[in-house]
Amino acid sequence: MALISPHATNSLIDMGRRHRRLIRPIRKTLPKVFSCPRCGVPSIRISNNDNTKSETESTSTTVVCGSCGLNHEAPTSLKQEPVDVYNHFVDEYMAGKIGA
Ligand SMILES: [Zn+2]
Repeated sequence: MALISPHATNSLIDMGRRHRRLIRPIRKTLPKVFSCPRCGVPSIRISNNDNTKSETESTSTTVVCGSCGLNHEAPTSLKQEPVDVYNHFVDEYMAGKIGA
């Protein structure tokens, strides 16, 4: 058992390094433009309106389609990712809460 331990430790370190390398490219592939639920064109833009710099950590986010003009302003948390806002936007549209 004493002979196995050093070898096992080395391979664990090697795997750790390889795993770290794989994480970075995944973060870069996060989409910044989303597909519109109405016209299907990937021209949805999500912009944060942080003009209300209050202590409440709340702001509003505008979701706009550059193709058909479908837009929605939603109160969001500063910690919310754009993809979360987009998913909520699609849910609201599918539920018929967003028209234009
Ligand atoms: Zn659209």
